[in-house]
Amino acid sequence: MNDILAAELRVFEEKCLLRSLRTVASAQGREIVCDGRQVLNFCSNDYLGLAADVRIVEAAKQVMGLHGFGSGSSRLVCGNMDEHAALEAEIATLKKTEAALLFSTGYMANVGIISALVGRDDVIFSDRLNHASILDGIVLSRAEMKRYPHNDMVALEQMLAAETKARRKLIVTDSVFSMDGDVARLPELAALAKRYHAWLMVDEAHAFGLFGASGAGMAEEMGVAGSIDIQMGTLSKAAGSFGAYAAGSKVLVDFLVNAARSVVFTTALPPSVAAASRAALGIIRAEPQRREKVLASAAFLREALRSLGLDVPSGTTPIIPVMLGSAERALCCSKELLESGILVSAIRPPTVPAGTARLRVTVTAAHTDQDLERCVSAFRKVISHE
Ligand SMILES: *Cc1c(COP(=O)(O)O)cnc(C)c1O
Repeated sequence: MNDILAAELRVFEEKCLLRSLRTVASAQGREIVCDGRQVLNFCSNDYLGLAADVRIVEAAKQVMGLHGFGSGSSRLVCGNMDEHAALEAEIATLKKTEAALLFSTGYMANVGIISALVGRDDVIFSDRLNHASILDGIVLSRAEMKRYPHNDMVALEQMLAAETKARRKLIVTDSVFSMDGDVARLPELAALAKRYHAWLMVDEAHAFGLFGASGAGMAEEMGVAGSIDIQMGTLSKAAGSFGAYAAGSKVLVDFLVNAARSVVFTTALPPSVAAASRAALGIIRAEPQRREKVLASAAFLREALRSLGLDVPSGTTPIIPVMLGSAERALCCSKELLESGILVSAIRPPTVPAGTARLRVTVTAAHTDQDLERCVSAFRKVISHE
C-alpha cells in the first residue's frame, strides 16, 4: 500500500499540487506563529477577528464549569442540552425564520441537509463553483446533478425549463463563493425557484455575520431571505466559533431532525461550543462596526492589489483572489510572500478549476492599516521578482 500511495504523492508533487499541514502555535488572529515563525495572517476566515475574543472564550469556560465538556451522545439520545436549544432559538431570531437546527460543521450540514431532502428521483441544480461539501451532499443524495455555469441565470433557466420528470427540484448555491469572493444572484435565483417550483438552498458560510443590517447574511442584505427555503451557514468563520446551522420553517427542522444522518448519527456539539457561538452572536449584534471595518479594509486592499497590476476580480467581500493561473506560480508567490512575513495560501486544483490557481487573500476586522500596507508591499516585492 505505502509504495502505491507514495507514488501518487510524487505525482501531486510534480504537478505542484502536493499539500502539507502547517502548525500554528498561537491563538488565531492578525498575527500568528506558524511553523515557528511570526507572520501576518492573510488567509483566515475569522473575518470579524473573533476566534480568540475573550468574551467567547469566557462564555465557553463558564458553560464548561457548569456542564462539563462532552455531550455524551447524539442529540436524539440524551445529548441535546439547553445550550444547543438556546443557540438554535437565537439563530432563528437572527435569521427571522421559524426554526433553526445545529450541525457539528458546515460540511456535515451540507451533506446532511441535501441527502435528506432529495433522492434518486430528484434533480439538483448546482452552481459550478459551489463548495465541495455541497458536491459531496449531492453525491450522497443519489439525485441527478445538473451543474450550471457559474452565476449563469440564463443557462439555469434553460435547465429548469427542460426538466420535466423530476419528483423534486432543488437549486443550491453558495451566497458568497468561497474561492472567488463573488456573490450569487439571489433575487434571480429566488424568482427562478418560484417560477419552476424548485426548492432553494443557500450556503451563507462566507456571508453570515458579515452582510445584512443585522449580520444575518447575503439573503438579508439582498432582501430575499423570505424566499429561501433552506438557509445554511457556518459558525466557524465570521462567528469565530465552530458548528453550523440550517434555518427555515419548523417543518423543515422537524424533518431534518428525523432524516439528516449527520444529525442523527453523530454526537452533539459540546455545550461549551454552543455557548461560544451564542457569545459570538451577541457580539455580531452589538458591534456592527466590525463588519463595516472588514468590508472597508477589503475594499482598500482589493484596490491596492489591483493597482499593482495584479489580476484581481472586482468584488465586495473580504475574499480577494489574486489570479495566477498555474499551480506552480501560485505556490512560488505564496512562498515569496512568506519570506516577507505574509501568510497567504496558494489555492490550487482540485479546490479550483485547472488553470485558475490563485492566492486567496482574506482580510479580517483585526487587521490594522499598517498590516494592509505590509501586505501590499510584500506583493509589490513579489511582482518585481517575477
Ligand atoms: C467552509 C465552508 C463550508 C464548511 O463549513 P465548516 O463549518 O468549516 O465545515 C461549507 N460551505 C462553504 C461555502 C464553505 O466555505
